[in-house]
Amino acid sequence: MEMPVPDSAVLARKARVVERLRGVLPADAVIDDPAETRAYECDALTAYRCPPMVAVLPATTEEVSDVLRICHEEGVPVVPRGSGTSLAGGALPTADCVILGVARMNDVLDTDYDNRIIRVQTGRTNLSVTGAVESDGFFYAPDPSSQLACAIAGNIAMNSGGAHCLKYGVTTNNLMGVTLVQMDGTVVEIGGGHLDAGGLDLLGVICGSEGQLGVVTEATLRILHKPEGARPVLMGFDSAEVAGACVADIIKAGVLPVAIEFMDKMLIEVCEDFAKADYPMCEALLIVEVEGSEAEINDQLALITAIAKRHNPVALRESASAEESLRIWAGRKAAFSAIGRVSDYMCLDGTIPVSELPFVLRRIGEMSEKYGLPVGNVFHAGDGNMHPLICYDANKPGDLEICEEFGAEVLKLCVEVGGCLTGEHGVGIEKRDLMTHQYAPADLEAQMAVKDVFDAKWLLNPAKVFPLAVSEPRRSVPLAAE
Ligand SMILES: Cc1cc2nc3c(=O)[nH]c(=O)nc-3n(C[C@H](O)[C@H](O)[C@H](O)COP(=O)(O)OP(=O)(O)OC[C@H]3O[C@@H](n4cnc5c(N)ncnc54)[C@H](O)[C@@H]3O)c2cc1C
Repeated sequence: MEMPVPDSAVLARKARVVERLRGVLPADAVIDDPAETRAYECDALTAYRCPPMVAVLPATTEEVSDVLRICHEEGVPVVPRGSGTSLAGGALPTADCVILGVARMNDVLDTDYDNRIIRVQTGRTNLSVTGAVESDGFFYAPDPSSQLACAIAGNIAMNSGGAHCLKYGVTTNNLMGVTLVQMDGTVVEIGGGHLDAGGLDLLGVICGSEGQLGVVTEATLRILHKPEGARPVLMGFDSAEVAGACVADIIKAGVLPVAIEFMDKMLIEVCEDFAKADYPMCEALLIVEVEGSEAEINDQLALITAIAKRHNPVALRESASAEESLRIWAGRKAAFSAIGRVSDYMCLDGTIPVSELPFVLRRIGEMSEKYGLPVGNVFHAGDGNMHPLICYDANKPGDLEICEEFGAEVLKLCVEVGGCLTGEHGVGIEKRDLMTHQYAPADLEAQMAVKDVFDAKWLLNPAKVFPLAVSEPRRSVPLAAE
């Protein structure tokens, strides 16, 4: 993985930068001891690591503004960080950067049930947003499987999704406004507690911008009434292709489950072993959940199970209790952790048209044989967001490179069948060099011109999203292989 050479002039200014940062932040919010900065050396894409020059932990928007102003004046790159759960390397530092972590910014600032909104500091974890309102019958819908740990900051930066986003939409559909600090320290308000405002849709630009345009410090989020009830049904099939065809038929029928999740045999086994969810052992498993009143649930499930029966399921079981439903979801949500117990892995995130699921699953199986690396599949099948998990041995020389090649071929296939490189994890460094397969030079130029407006010096997360060779003229530092 190629990263820019650290700027030696910036490294030489470290002492002065640290002193200036200590002038605007409490002493324990500036971390420059190399032993301590190692805590920030990677995110959840652990194959790549690099401790930052300094890490800072501001607690307010004003402190973030001060930090950015100083880094702007000193020409120091800044990598924003939420909880560091990115699977795309979005929060990976460079050796000459300041990591700006928002973990201390986790307050609820305002809750407005009449208008169904909540305003939070963005270091707050996803699950604790729901935690703040659930006793009053509300919830925050986007539910990444990492929701116990990941922060709203990272969710906004990556436009994160989750199992239940088939019905409720992803982060961008549930985000109403942000406070954004630009690289020169300017604080701007974008959107707010109202529906789409006039002017350019800057909120749409900020959501999913991967820390390229500014640091998001506060967010206004839509909260929803909890549904009356919900029930998952487990459907087992004797092949991934048949399960894929069943998903395509459910979507085609016009019924909208709240979630359709897919797991293949490898994932069923590791998740069962980890979470004891009582999954049926089969080649491919779908978890389909519907919600509403008892009558609505029964109606929807009748239609969905009739479709499933046309595909000769080897198992078909509705959850019989709230406790069983919890177990079913605990298994699915633990999928990445569960496979992490048995192998090093790289998690891909391509999205494809749902109708292409059977073909793409077959091709991934063929590629697995070609590259000699096992692959497990678990994904949000309802919206075609695939997560092939390629297993490799981090201690075996050359295995990571084979894994990267395998991953690149899968993602290129996603683009070829009419999909895209990322559904919810973002580009980061992982898919950065594949962006030329998705976008023509003029398309990339238009995206980089937007960054020019927000961050003219290209100091914010500069080695991510855009292929290094393409962004090189905008960055002054030379490149080197790591
Ligand atoms: C086990 C596991 C399961 C996962 N499941 C899902 C899933 O179901 N759906 C999904 O979408 N993702 C999933 N992810 C990926 C990850 O959790 C999400 O991308 C998440 O939104 C990252 O949040 P974070 O706070 O950890 O961000 P980080 O990893 O800290 O950062 C992610 C990106 O956001 C930028 N950023 C961070 N803070 C700010 C800020 N304040 N302002 C501007 N930019 C900022 C960073 O620079 C980086 O580019 C999973 C990850 C793991 C490890």
